Amino acid sequence: MSNQQLVIENNRNNGNQQQSFECEDIAITVAMGDGIGPEITRATLRILTAAKARIIPEFIDIGEQVYLAGHSAGITPQAWQSLRQTKVFLKGPITTPSGSGYKSLNVTIRKTLGLYANVRPCISYSPYVHTLHPAMDLVIIRENEEDLYAGIEHRQTDEVYQCLKLITRPGCEKIIRYAFEYARSHGRKKVTCMVKDNIMKMTDGLFYKVFQEIGAQYPDITQDRYIIDIGSARLATQPELFDVIVTTNLYGDIISDIAAELSGSIGLAGSANIGEHVAMFEAIHGSAPDIAGQNIANPSGLLLASVMMLIHIGQADIARKIQNAWLKTIEDGIHTTDLKSEQTKVLVNTDQFAAAVIARLGASPQRFTPVTYQNSELQQKPVTPAYQAKAPAEKIIVGVDVFLHKHQLSADMLAERLKRLETPELQLEMITNRGVKVWPDGFPETFCTDHWRCRFMLKAGLTQLVYADIIRLLSLISANNLDVIKTENLCTFNGEPGFTLGQGQ
Ligand code: NAD
Repeated sequence: MSNQQLVIENNRNNGNQQQSFECEDIAITVAMGDGIGPEITRATLRILTAAKARIIPEFIDIGEQVYLAGHSAGITPQAWQSLRQTKVFLKGPITTPSGSGYKSLNVTIRKTLGLYANVRPCISYSPYVHTLHPAMDLVIIRENEEDLYAGIEHRQTDEVYQCLKLITRPGCEKIIRYAFEYARSHGRKKVTCMVKDNIMKMTDGLFYKVFQEIGAQYPDITQDRYIIDIGSARLATQPELFDVIVTTNLYGDIISDIAAELSGSIGLAGSANIGEHVAMFEAIHGSAPDIAGQNIANPSGLLLASVMMLIHIGQADIARKIQNAWLKTIEDGIHTTDLKSEQTKVLVNTDQFAAAVIARLGASPQRFTPVTYQNSELQQKPVTPAYQAKAPAEKIIVGVDVFLHKHQLSADMLAERLKRLETPELQLEMITNRGVKVWPDGFPETFCTDHWRCRFMLKAGLTQLVYADIIRLLSLISANNLDVIKTENLCTFNGEPGFTLGQGQ
């Protein structure tokens, strides 16, 4: 069914729903999505309509068909216009075509619209949904714009590819403050930071440093930190240890799939992507092409995302009605295939599940605690102060890493050539290969690729470099028939080094 047909059907089934909305009706942008997207979005819209959500859906086409029609970003200018006008987006999952010609539309939308906070509640519905962790009730707050998802990748040599991991202070401050404000406004008691700062001292190190700085302003909230590997392991075995988890983009993406699956099914979890101007609501799962078109997908993830949307737009009364009907459906044992267990009384398809929720609108769950959202609680929008830029640090260039592409060369041979090219300002200090020191005093056991980082530092007695000194060095290296891939300036910021040592240095 096309979007247009869906609107017509909704109008027909609901007494011309679009014209009968009251004056406080809110326009929202809706994309049906790819794969199972149309099935679960249709089910969700049916429930929203039956619950009398005061919304006017404005449909846009994005995703696979738009990519294939030649829009390499997967979205048209008209769709952007709708998003910027309504500022509220209910989105079915999107397939990212494989191949380097296509960027992920999900990431593009989140970043273009500044949706910096991805809020992913993961809750067990035991005993009605089978899970090993009946007490799990946590929220993952994932940074949504930075990290390896900056999508800046390069092939640098025959053998080496690079993806840049960008972590910024404004990005860290915004997401970490959001996590603490979310905890406060949602009555949650603890915020856990998950990072890998034992390895990535500068990037993940900054995230944790900002967590400590901002955490000091929230003495009422318990705080702790896990390295992401043991943190993920504990999440899988003892999720009840966690309340709110704040983490960077990639880790958050991974652990929220784990947490959703632990709760019983990836099909259960909804999420909100919150920005200062626009908010987007979606299931955390993807377009599930393996089950698309079969009418068996669980629409709960998108439905619970739409509950978050209703709270966001001030319709907590409708949100409450829908979530309580959904809880009652689950405890009545009316389940889609992914939730099948001995608690299942009636196994239903996507449409039947939607019908079961609609039949329970107005009812309260008997075993689960009913939700009690109030219209005054705009819970998805904790107030976070605008980022205050810091005074610029005193930045001094003290060296340069020159990255070279060179085959069939030993580190000692390369060092010998580079030593001859030292300038009056710069001397060769170290060569690494894939980050590990291979000169001076490298080990023959270390495997080397064709990608060399050659660190030149300021000579003794000098206090700083100018960029022209680096260019002079590069000219010499290039004239010596060495292939320069790129350089990274080595700077101090207020005297603190803005670079790490080589491994083994
Ligand atoms: P997926 O989440 O689509 O599917 C993983 C597994 O979970 C599959 O076995 C699927 O059948 C099952 N599953 C997912 N949702 C379900 C539901 N509602 N009910 C029952 N079972 C469900 O992950 P994938 O297969 O890795 O990705 C497929 C596509 O989705 C890819 O193109 C990917 O880029 C995209 N994707 C989009 C989003 C998004 O739109 N936000 C998120 C993740 C992945």
